[in-house]
Amino acid sequence: MKRAYNFAPGPAVLPIEVLEETSKAVLDFNNLGISIMEISHRSKDFDALIKETQQLTLELMGLSSDDYAVLFLGGGASLQFLMVPLNFLREQADYVSTGYWSKKAIKEAQWVGKTNVVASSEEANFTYIPKDIKFTPNADYVHITTNNTIFGTQWKEIPDTGDIPLVADMSSDFLGITRDFKRFSLIYAGAQKNVGPAGVTVVVIKRKWLEEKGNPNVATMLNYSTHVKENSLFNTPPCVNIFVVNRTLKWIKKQGGVEAVYQTNLKKANLLYDFFDANSDFWITPVKNKEDRSLMNIVVNLPTPELENKFVEEAKSKHNMTNLKGHRSVGGIRVSSYNACPIEWIEDLVKFMEEFTKENR
Ligand SMILES: *Cc1c(COP(=O)(O)O)cnc(C)c1O
Repeated sequence: MKRAYNFAPGPAVLPIEVLEETSKAVLDFNNLGISIMEISHRSKDFDALIKETQQLTLELMGLSSDDYAVLFLGGGASLQFLMVPLNFLREQADYVSTGYWSKKAIKEAQWVGKTNVVASSEEANFTYIPKDIKFTPNADYVHITTNNTIFGTQWKEIPDTGDIPLVADMSSDFLGITRDFKRFSLIYAGAQKNVGPAGVTVVVIKRKWLEEKGNPNVATMLNYSTHVKENSLFNTPPCVNIFVVNRTLKWIKKQGGVEAVYQTNLKKANLLYDFFDANSDFWITPVKNKEDRSLMNIVVNLPTPELENKFVEEAKSKHNMTNLKGHRSVGGIRVSSYNACPIEWIEDLVKFMEEFTKENR
């Protein structure tokens, strides 16, 4: 099998060994003679798998199961845009608007209650991360999007929200950067960028916050308490997807954990940014402030849209380098370099960029 270079923003590349293990488990899970697609979510073997996956998540994040619960839910990160305010927006909540996905989260919160957009970088087309934000005293929570998948910015420093609980959409940098996860009361991430396939969303929630502040008057399936009480087995979870997350987390652990994966992500991103900065007459990075640049989604422009199209087409036709086109709302070029993207792919891509520069500058 020949693998294409896949720089897709999500669903995205997974480690080949995870795909191989999954293909085996699709035929026969744990030598039971039963596929992971066929097994009961109430079986002993599946129960062990989901518990191990929860434990691995917490271990990689440096969190304890006494303090945090891990859920594997359907509905994508997009459902979390609604579940968070349904459960926690009682009076008012603060949101920071740093891009397309933040805006979607804000829109859902507005269905529920008073939503304060306390900072936004929209006036500069989301090319930076707002600093020195004044949060609303007594806000129920602050919501941020740690990595902005489309605009290529990322929070490197987490803002100090004092006593106000912090909630984060980490869909596109989950376990890809070292963070003090204890500072968050709730973290959610669609698995399909860094830790698995589409169809499962990882939710890590502080038990005490839910017990003390969670709204009890929320319909069953949308109530976090339902899922926490049943250890993420209230209804049939996405079993195959959880298997893939399990194996991807094991792969991260084998690399040396989040810190090791982060160091590689940093190297990969710097190969690109250093090249762009050295050739800034031709490779134009919209995110000028270096500390705001995303390690996961590296966005760049060429002098004209025609050149950008030519680059994307030649990358594909000459080297089978796929999915380099920027999001339809912003255009340009975007390299998504998530956890499982090998550093060799980025090295090869930079080589091609050098050639392309010589021929087209
Ligand atoms: C991809 C993405 C989403 C959307 O996730 P779904 O699982 O498709 O709902 C939300 N937030 C961020 C930051 C994303 O990158």
